[in-house]
Amino acid sequence: MDKSVNTKGGVRVRMAPSPTGTLHVGTARTALFNYLFARHHKGTYVMRIEDTDRERSDKKLEENITEGLKWLGLEWDEFYRQSERMGVYEQYLRKLLEEDKAFYCWHTKDELQVEREKQMKSKEAPRHICSYRDEDIRDEKEKIKRSIIRFKNNTRGDIEFTDLVRGKVKFDAQNLGDFSIARSINDPLYNFAVVVDDNEMQITHVMRGEDHISNTPRQILILEALNWERPQYAHIPLLLGSDKSKLSKRHGATSVSEYKDMGYLPAAMFNFLALLGWHPKDDEKEIMNKEQIIEEFMISDVQQSGAIFDIEKLNWMNANYIRSLKLKEFRQLCMPYLENANLIDKKTDNDWLEKILGMEQERIKKLSDIVDAVKFIFEDINYNSELLIWRKSDKKDAAEQLRELNAIIEKIDEKNWNKDELEKIIMPHAQEKGDRGRVLWPLRVAVSGKKASPGPFEIMEVLKKKKVLSRIDNAIKKLQ
Ligand code: GLU
Repeated sequence: MDKSVNTKGGVRVRMAPSPTGTLHVGTARTALFNYLFARHHKGTYVMRIEDTDRERSDKKLEENITEGLKWLGLEWDEFYRQSERMGVYEQYLRKLLEEDKAFYCWHTKDELQVEREKQMKSKEAPRHICSYRDEDIRDEKEKIKRSIIRFKNNTRGDIEFTDLVRGKVKFDAQNLGDFSIARSINDPLYNFAVVVDDNEMQITHVMRGEDHISNTPRQILILEALNWERPQYAHIPLLLGSDKSKLSKRHGATSVSEYKDMGYLPAAMFNFLALLGWHPKDDEKEIMNKEQIIEEFMISDVQQSGAIFDIEKLNWMNANYIRSLKLKEFRQLCMPYLENANLIDKKTDNDWLEKILGMEQERIKKLSDIVDAVKFIFEDINYNSELLIWRKSDKKDAAEQLRELNAIIEKIDEKNWNKDELEKIIMPHAQEKGDRGRVLWPLRVAVSGKKASPGPFEIMEVLKKKKVLSRIDNAIKKLQ
């Protein structure tokens, strides 16, 4: 199977999203593969908004897509919008009509439906072989108004191409029928506009989702009719949910913007998406930065089977990237979430905040987790008194330990209020009891209200003396 990639004369690839929905993670992955291929081969990465469907295209969605791609770091070298190129498509539609390679078809929707049902009954491929294909209606304005433009498909036999991911692919040309290419002379359909643009933009490699593979033979027929050269094709397997069906809302968030809002880092998302269906040859590495991925990306290493979007793996990877952030950067990224939750405001001291966030940086999976993680520092805590009791101990003992602690803590000077000092004073006291948990467990629960939290001394440092004493008092009351 010859899947050799031809990159002679330079590589030009394109990303061609339709602004009819928000940026789907699958589209982002396709964009990423195009980007990686272009950067690896020092080629050009073109961005083309496919907005010829005026009814379904939306500027806001276009913005969501471009913002999402920029956020991921997939900057393009050239940018086009199909709606601004309508004259170009018209020119080539006219050419095909004049050369008798395309024609007007005025069959009604109902007529086409009847034809389709008949074909289904006799188990034939649904297609339209048009009885108007040889009629010349150039001068019949009324008929033209009711018509769409179809490609006159005279090809017999197989249309073959070599896909860089799937190898040899072929389709029976006859099954395509006389397929539609435009709603009217100034309203081209996807298959037509794509071919014109890929040629005009000198695209060398067409890399897109596998769902477009059945469009490829149609596009090949159009470009051959226009005497244009074929690009190389690579159809990338779809993303699947955990149950191996096509990834959809049912499986959770599917938009890049949703992941951004939840606090996944762009570098983690970049890394994660790159490894969906691709892996560097002979290498088990998982955490790779942008440069490494560009360096190692080979289209021939893209797998043929669908790739599972495993949220657990994304969480693991994101946690890795979060851990490696500098504390200041981590704080800056967390602040919008904390502000939104009204936990902090403009007056909040940054050094203090960094101490709080530093306790959780190792523990959270995504930035939005920070709100629940640190809420207990800012807001009153509420927990079940049972939680204060250490293993085989009881309410009475827990209350006793907390009373003793209160007496010790009262005496600590606020000037020495930091976790090392607190540890130095409280630890020996806990050791004396033989079982440190008897002291440290109720203390930690009293100040955090949680079953799992950072250690008691770190929490006490940021809560400061007054709040610590009042929380311990509250705990003692709960135990009575
Ligand atoms: N506009 C098409 C889409 O969003 C692009 C397909 C292609 O890359 O040719 O699926």
